[in-house]
Amino acid sequence: MLIVPEREIANLMTREAAFDAVEKVFAAMASDDARNFPVVREAIGHEDALYGFKGGFDRAGLTLGLKAGGYWPHNLEKHELINHQSTVFLFDPDTGRAKAMVGGNLLTALRTAAASSVSIKHLAREDAKVIGMIGAGHQATFQLRAALEQRRFEKVIGWNYHPEMLPNIEKVATEAGLPFEAVDLPGMAEADVIITITSAFAPSLMADHVSPGTHIACMGTDTKGKQEVETALLGRATVFTDEVAQSISIGEAQHAIQDLSLRPEDIIQLGRVINGSHEGRTSDDEITLFDGTGVGLQDLAVAAAVVDLAVEKGISIEVDF
Ligand code: NAD
Repeated sequence: MLIVPEREIANLMTREAAFDAVEKVFAAMASDDARNFPVVREAIGHEDALYGFKGGFDRAGLTLGLKAGGYWPHNLEKHELINHQSTVFLFDPDTGRAKAMVGGNLLTALRTAAASSVSIKHLAREDAKVIGMIGAGHQATFQLRAALEQRRFEKVIGWNYHPEMLPNIEKVATEAGLPFEAVDLPGMAEADVIITITSAFAPSLMADHVSPGTHIACMGTDTKGKQEVETALLGRATVFTDEVAQSISIGEAQHAIQDLSLRPEDIIQLGRVINGSHEGRTSDDEITLFDGTGVGLQDLAVAAAVVDLAVEKGISIEVDF
């Protein structure tokens, strides 16, 4: 069995490799070559932790496994460890033997950033110039950095519930040589692409904050009860997702389904646009919205890519198991 420790991931994994892995597995999911298994997420009654598994099998890429982990809210103060902790386990699909154990923390950030980038590549207008960020936490910096590679953006605008955090995303814009402007929510109307990446349980972005032709990637809502945008916006937009079952149960669409702004059959798997079985955006005025809920197959895809890179560079640890 091979081990790729968390400390090696930053040197091995690139945004490009994460993007390719996620784009491929989204396409495989839409062609029924890959499927996610039901998610397990439990409060364990210890340290206030939420722990669970996201697994699946990609028959096209021959990747089988799961990500185990969750959220330990007291890690930082008690143990000087980050609160989100995860590990990916890969198995040989021919025999069921354990194949690899891979640090999953940085990979989670990279695969999540790759998902919104894949949606921008396939759904945003080609002439998109202004990108708007709602959220300025840990994950927002990854989303923005990856998104900037998809179009010739000329400006970054941002709004955050905690305005003191906005310098986090301003720094990413500045590093990319782009001007940054803090705006109020109606100011988001200037954006051609908007990424929402917050842990909110009530909507910030309303339907009338968004201009025709905008692409929105809703990335923060990955649990029952969370919500970032008004349901009327999903009613107005053409809605795409990584996986419909997750979108309607734990994703942004959960609320729009409940108040009947949207029907499950109206939600399109992004993989269908990637593999050409759906046309995607059909006009410059259309609002497209990607509900990125985060699927196990994304984790397995980037972990498999990193194992290949580690073997290639001779830095994986091999144990007789
Ligand atoms: P973080 O704690 O670093 O940042 C949280 C962000 O949410 C900050 O911008 C904060 O200001 C904002 N926020 C907090 N309370 C808010 C409120 N009431 N209203 C509006 N905004 C509020 O967290 P992070 O690591 O950046 O993660 C952000 C979200 O993304 C979390 O909900 C996380 O679960 C989710 N996430 C989703 C995926 C996925 O695949 N879809 C993957 C990773 C993380």
